[in-house]
Amino acid sequence: MLDNQQQFASDNYAGICPEAWAAMAEANAGHAPAYGDDTWTQKASDAFRTLFQRDCEVFFVFNGTAANSLALASLCQSYHSVICASTSHIETDECGAPEFFSNGSKLLVAPSVDGKLTPEAIRTIATQRSDIHFPKPRVVTVTQPTETGVVYRPEELQAISDVCRELGLVLHMDGSRFSNACAALDCEPADITWRVGVDVLCFGGTKNGMAVGEAILFFNRPQAEDFDYRCKQAGQLASKMRFLSAPWVRMLETGAWRARAGHANACARRLVDQIADIPELPLMFPADANGVFLKMAPPLVDALRAKGWKFYTFIGGGVRLMFAWDTLPERVDALAADLRAVAEASRD
Ligand SMILES: *Cc1c(COP(=O)(O)O)cnc(C)c1O
Repeated sequence: MLDNQQQFASDNYAGICPEAWAAMAEANAGHAPAYGDDTWTQKASDAFRTLFQRDCEVFFVFNGTAANSLALASLCQSYHSVICASTSHIETDECGAPEFFSNGSKLLVAPSVDGKLTPEAIRTIATQRSDIHFPKPRVVTVTQPTETGVVYRPEELQAISDVCRELGLVLHMDGSRFSNACAALDCEPADITWRVGVDVLCFGGTKNGMAVGEAILFFNRPQAEDFDYRCKQAGQLASKMRFLSAPWVRMLETGAWRARAGHANACARRLVDQIADIPELPLMFPADANGVFLKMAPPLVDALRAKGWKFYTFIGGGVRLMFAWDTLPERVDALAADLRAVAEASRD
């Protein structure tokens, strides 16, 4: 049953945005060649190349776990390793898929509070061992924005990629909310990817209003060699590919990819502004994008749940609230009012 009261447990609770929905209807108007040989898939790939101002290789898969895992697997041999932050989705939320699809490449986890990797952390991990008994570091992966809603600035990414170049590492970006990062920074997608040394980007569509689908962009074409085979073998080659690709055409050409993400970010900001004066509800991380993380005492968490709100507490260690392309400002205000009520009640 549909819940008509919006919840902020996940941006995945939202449905399909009008642009993506219209594009699917248009792609549904007749027959078209299968397995990506259709005009929408061609157009979507070209739209990515235009948006990024780069002649990149583009692939479409069903979800983010597949995008990350297959991209990392294609960059690694089984004896390689991938440096990631301790909170990264590939480490905590992909059920070992990166290790599985790479036939055993190991994840080397850097401690991180806000989900960011630093050049120093990468250097420490990448240089701790160089003997044959340890899996050889090969890839660094960053999440933009991080799992805790923090955005890397272009200069931070540049500093990371400088270390990667120096140490012979490839730089991968998990951009499941990449649009939110671009909207937050008000920058061109190229400015936080290939121009600052990112080699491969997994660009998320689902959390930003698409029904299903993520794009994988290889900015250095040779790294994409045989990637189509890898997708097919992993069960990620959609036979009716046009329903994955057509929504991208509309999202990219209309600018909806940025506008919808901008709305989600603005809703996060709207909540933060309304609760900023409540001492019981400190922010755990800067709310750079579409997520707000609140440090809340357990009785307050229970009281908020008792008011009917749904949210997760296992990501980032606090109350996580995620805002979507369709979030209603009134609903944000209702949440803010309930947060204030539970905080005030706890003072008596
Ligand atoms: C949601 C998410 C993904 C993709 O998850 P799927 O459920 O496999 O689509 C990847 N990375 C991050 C950081 C995410 O939040």
